[in-house]
Amino acid sequence: ENLPSQQQVVLFASPGAGHLIPLVELARRLAMDHGFAVTLVMLTGMSDPANDAAVLSSLPSSVATAVLPAVSLDDLPPDVGFGTLMFELVRRSLPHLRALMDGASGRGPVTALVCDFFGTAALPLAAELGALGYVFFPNSFAMISIMRHIVEIHGDAAPGEYRDLPDPLPLPGGPLLRHADLPDGFRESEDPVYAYLVEEARRYGRADGFLVNSFEELEVAMADMFKRDAEDGAFPPVYPVGPFVRSSSGDEADESGCLEWLDRQPEGSVVYVSFGTGGALSVEQTAELAAGLEMSGHRFLWVVRMPSLDGNPCALGTIPGDKDDPLAWLPEGFVQRTSGRGLAVVAWAPQVRVLSHPATASFVSHCGWNSTLESVAAGVPMVAWPLYAEQKTNAAILTEVTGVALRPAARGHGQYGLVTREVIAAAVRELMEGEEGSAVRGRARELREASKRAWSPEGSSRRAMGEVAGKLKAALVNGNGSTA
Ligand code: UDP
Repeated sequence: ENLPSQQQVVLFASPGAGHLIPLVELARRLAMDHGFAVTLVMLTGMSDPANDAAVLSSLPSSVATAVLPAVSLDDLPPDVGFGTLMFELVRRSLPHLRALMDGASGRGPVTALVCDFFGTAALPLAAELGALGYVFFPNSFAMISIMRHIVEIHGDAAPGEYRDLPDPLPLPGGPLLRHADLPDGFRESEDPVYAYLVEEARRYGRADGFLVNSFEELEVAMADMFKRDAEDGAFPPVYPVGPFVRSSSGDEADESGCLEWLDRQPEGSVVYVSFGTGGALSVEQTAELAAGLEMSGHRFLWVVRMPSLDGNPCALGTIPGDKDDPLAWLPEGFVQRTSGRGLAVVAWAPQVRVLSHPATASFVSHCGWNSTLESVAAGVPMVAWPLYAEQKTNAAILTEVTGVALRPAARGHGQYGLVTREVIAAAVRELMEGEEGSAVRGRARELREASKRAWSPEGSSRRAMGEVAGKLKAALVNGNGSTA
């Protein structure tokens, strides 16, 4: 028989739920809406396999998955930092990815390789195979813009001659990004990860295109600028295809009992508090947050994780022990005193469902980009409480450009500062009841409608996704895409 073989797209995911969640949604769209044979390739190590399995359970059965064999990172210094580990993990896994793609080409033409942030060292592989090389950017246009800045300031500088970004850094459409709000790794050229970031950013110009998990109305000025730059050939086309919010989460179990508890709360009354899959507060900060929530007088649902004992706000990669009980670290009597109006759950809540629950009014958030999009899609305004990675940048955009968040100030104290109970209580009250809060709540409602429009039948993100699919299909006709 001469059945036309299906075109293959290989998605290459970086570790962590924050990367996997939107890539699962991209895989779904490419397979279900556009008929591609999709393989989602993952790396071993640096993510919690149980979390990954939960995220993957929502993949359509037509999407294949593959896990690359483990590679050793043992020779790296113990304090090397998360970003460096990610870049090295990718670099060392490339031979395995190459072997996998060689094998895959036996099943039909590989039309495109889509790399994630951290993963663009794989782009030359796509070129070798005659496939298109795309980048899926699980973050904002603003972050791509920062990556372009680090290329610009380096011009022809040789590797090793690294320069600092200007302070403040102007971004199209605002804000002037304060140095302190630059993502981790971008603040000092001496940071070991900076060299990797510069090299990653330098590869961007060679990509055939970008898919960004944002939408036009969320970053209006940015989206316009990138459109113009693509027309002028100054940068590859960047297609805003977001927000990718987990569509499967409706089936997610409610082990913590959050949803049942929310069902019993009045409409628009609950403050949801979560710092994502890796955020960790110090013991002192945990106590202040507890006191602040109590002081605010509002109802709350708090996803409590183990505190950070060494002050590092990023606990990614540490897998909690069986006997760890985060609730034991809350102040004495807190759970009992607030039992009528607060619920503290351990480790994990079905967040997408929590945010879209009618009882949920606001979100004290670490501003991870997925959480941000989920909040925006649900029309829930935020108290921005960024901790690490690019969360401070996201917080700056959310407060200064999109206007959907209030940002309490940390008292300059220690490496990360302390947000006091008074400041927390005031921020929660302002967002829930205040005048400034009212403007933020209004903006959140507007953006919820805009995010719905993005994926409506004629919406900007659906159109952009269609355009990319069209390009991939045409590439094969025009001779791109390797046939085995
Ligand atoms: N998440 C969840 N329940 C939790 C914590 C996180 O469902 O208790 C999900 C959340 O909905 C989001 C993702 O995990 O989709 C976290 O991604 P994000 O980019 O916000 O932050 P990260 O964890 O990468 O810092």
